[in-house]
Amino acid sequence: MKKGRSPTGLRPKHVPQRMCVACRQPNAKRGLIRLVRTPDGRVEVDPTGKRRGRGAYLCHNPDCWEAALKRRGLERALRLEALHPDDAAVLRHFRDGLSSETATVIRDMNIVEPD
Ligand SMILES: [Zn+2]
Repeated sequence: MKKGRSPTGLRPKHVPQRMCVACRQPNAKRGLIRLVRTPDGRVEVDPTGKRRGRGAYLCHNPDCWEAALKRRGLERALRLEALHPDDAAVLRHFRDGLSSETATVIRDMNIVEPD
């Protein structure tokens, strides 16, 4: 049996779906960090999400940044031959910022007794 009837009266507005290039989780635009390819083929973090150029999105999960850097997901998404080493360093640094937040949370959860 097929339930192919679409709900009546609900015509969803065409909301552009943003998707993390690593985990492929669709997310509201705000939940993702935009990266933009500049005209000279560099990659920059675009916190405003408004810069011109081909964009790719990553969520706030440091694992996704790691995966995107390791598996060339960013190059694919941004249609780059290769990520510039400087840009890779900047993105890793950004990733570290994300993970240190997480690390703090984890550290606070595991209360280590001073020896
Ligand atoms: Zn993700």
